[in-house]
Amino acid sequence: MGRISADFSGETVVVTGGSSGIGRAVALAFGDAGATVVNADVEERPKDVDAETPTHKLVRERGGEAAYAEVDVSDPAEVEALVEYAREFGGVDVMVNNAGVYTKSRFRDVTPEEFDRVYGVNARGAFFGTQYAAEDMIERGVEGVVVNTTSDTQGRASWDHSHYAATKGAVRMVTRSAALELAPEGVRVNAVAPGPVATEIREGWSEEASAFGPDGETPSLPLRAATPDELADAYLYLASDGASYVTGETLWVDGGGHVC
Ligand code: NAD
Repeated sequence: MGRISADFSGETVVVTGGSSGIGRAVALAFGDAGATVVNADVEERPKDVDAETPTHKLVRERGGEAAYAEVDVSDPAEVEALVEYAREFGGVDVMVNNAGVYTKSRFRDVTPEEFDRVYGVNARGAFFGTQYAAEDMIERGVEGVVVNTTSDTQGRASWDHSHYAATKGAVRMVTRSAALELAPEGVRVNAVAPGPVATEIREGWSEEASAFGPDGETPSLPLRAATPDELADAYLYLASDGASYVTGETLWVDGGGHVC
């Protein structure tokens, strides 16, 4: 099958959580498409078992422009400083709020501390990542785009991650609410909802994810677990002019899991 090509030459794309997994694939795809990429992560080193070169260095090795910023997205002051830092590269044109953490706990066992930690990274990170990036775009007169990473859990219940699902439901509503209020300023806000993707977000995830497939044991997933690369084009599409009439949308990229 063919592929849609993208050209983000002259644009600056900030990807949070870009050191590993989905964020890394997204950062590399934007770098390959000509963007200057800023990877904002708490850790420079990739967690992925088969990766060693930090994302920004790999973008450069592939002929692109990229930088790394050590940022904890749960701290709004650090996110504000990140957006300021991106001005060194011309300012944020596309903000991908992707950083996330996951813990596995039964609903009855989730503590306030665990809830706050996961909510802080996933929901507060996306909220203020959207707010600060949009503020900067508006100030610079740029019709920029925000793409948030939510999850299939934003719309479907499943076992042992009610607190995580709550954060991803929040990201979906941040996306919709911000899209409404920022549309008059020319800023679009969308989200991608991945299903199971083979990353290291939780220990053993890759092995677990690889168990998905058309084996009859996982009827809730029509296709299979994804590789991070299979998510990247959705971000490029939503950030591109090809999606100029799309805002407030959460695009399921989940192997069809949401239809079950
Ligand atoms: P990952 O663990 O491979 O990557 C997450 C990245 O976020 C890491 O590089 C990590 O260092 C970074 N990060 C964590 N806390 C941070 C913080 N406070 N500030 C900045 N960076 C931080 O996981 P992934 O699977 O690539 O997850 C990426 C996003 O996709 C997350 O938001 C996750 O919730 C979401 N998601 C993943 C799956 C999946 O199956 N892997 C499914 C649905 C949604």
